Amino acid sequence: MNIRLFNTMSRKIEDFQPLVPGKVGFYSCGPTVYHYTHIGNLRSFVLADLLKRMFIENGYEVFNVMNITDVGHLTSDDDDSGEDKMEKGAARENKSVWDVAKFYTNEFLRDSADLNLLEPSARPRATEYIQEQINLVQQLVDLGYTYEIPGDGIYYDTSKFAAYGALTGGAVAGNRAGARVEFNEAKRNPTDFALWKFSPTDKKRQMEWDSPWGVGFPGWHIECSAMSMALLGAHFDIHTGGVDLSRVHHANEIAQSEPITGAPWVRYWVHSEFLVDKSGEKMSKSSGEFLTLSVLKKRGYNPMAYRYMLLMGHYQSQLAFSWDGLDAAANGYKNMVRRVIEILNATDAGTLNREQFDIWHDKILGLVSDNLKTAEAIVAVHELLKDQSVNPATKKALFEFIDRLLGLRFIEEAEHVNNLEKAVVPAEIQALADARTAAKAERDWAKADELRARIDAAGWSVIDTRDGAKIVKKA
Ligand code: AMP
Ligand code: ZN
Repeated sequence: MNIRLFNTMSRKIEDFQPLVPGKVGFYSCGPTVYHYTHIGNLRSFVLADLLKRMFIENGYEVFNVMNITDVGHLTSDDDDSGEDKMEKGAARENKSVWDVAKFYTNEFLRDSADLNLLEPSARPRATEYIQEQINLVQQLVDLGYTYEIPGDGIYYDTSKFAAYGALTGGAVAGNRAGARVEFNEAKRNPTDFALWKFSPTDKKRQMEWDSPWGVGFPGWHIECSAMSMALLGAHFDIHTGGVDLSRVHHANEIAQSEPITGAPWVRYWVHSEFLVDKSGEKMSKSSGEFLTLSVLKKRGYNPMAYRYMLLMGHYQSQLAFSWDGLDAAANGYKNMVRRVIEILNATDAGTLNREQFDIWHDKILGLVSDNLKTAEAIVAVHELLKDQSVNPATKKALFEFIDRLLGLRFIEEAEHVNNLEKAVVPAEIQALADARTAAKAERDWAKADELRARIDAAGWSVIDTRDGAKIVKKA
């Protein structure tokens, strides 16, 4: 199947051509683990997950990497100043940097599992690749791309790299559009960035390493060049991240890598747009005001409802989060699950019709392979559900494929709900429910409430319907 992707570098949708036929390697910038991963961050990771699923369904052998940033990301990315985000997180929580990293990494891994994100082929941590980062910096020093700011660090001189900023269409060295006026005066160009920062002399950092230039820690950008090259080789197919990374972080990754690897270092750059709030403001970790997947779960939402909401948009468009929008997505998802339950429970399912299977399979995979048109693919899934000419056995086989491709757990969820609804009500629960019905008839509301609470505590819910009280097992 023809695969097409929007390449930020060319600003065009391009046909995907792998470096090695039948194989694809890609790198995705992962979370900085100084705080919870929010649902905006998760949007960029869902993009990586969809790419992986799409390539697998197209028969590719996929090797993908997503890093964990546990060092070196400063509070001001623009001028390499401010505090290390990890050390700041540790101070806020009165924990060691290592404990902060471990805690938020685990939280992130749980969110990833809840959102059904496939495990990447490798999940390197920046602190595990310090030597590789030092080696890269050394190569850049030897090639003459760097200078030292005494007491500060080793900096990359962006004026030495003619193609600097090509990813975002010509933010040339020394003249970064939108850069704030004040910047580190010792830098030769405003776009220059730190490759290695020296530890302060008056304070001991929790994370610091020896280097040929002195004790310190790597700048944020070098880690992604080092880890991607170590795990994917000098050149690879695709690099992903949120759209905010293209202007600085990815521009810097390219500038660090191409003097060593030759151009182009990476063939396709794929960026996901922001999740924003009602006023169009980007959800941001550093502001401290953000929503996490566990908050959504606590409010009773299935993480699949959020995934469904993301897939109903296109990764290149901003998506405004609202509770109403999430409710609509949750309802849309539930309705589809209902239809899948009917497929699973069909008494006369028939046998798989290979021809019809192929037509729907190719239609849906074709849409996702065409620059990840997930919303259109979901519309096609709705059409499939409505198509009376496709029997339940064929639909079930198609839903197994749809689940692998979109990761929406339709069958798993349908089986779960089905089992809950089919669960036999134990006699003692039935007796409590009957007593509650009697209490209601006598208008003894306090007793009815107390009985409901007992049923609830035992893991069942009683729902009053027009046909009387229905008892269902709680999810
Ligand atoms: P961080 O953990 O801050 O390093 O960010 C991890 C990823 O989330 C990066 O690829 C960011 O570009 C992306 N990201 C940050 N905020 C948002 C947002 N509001 N919507 C979508 N992606 C985001
Ligand atoms: Zn990165």
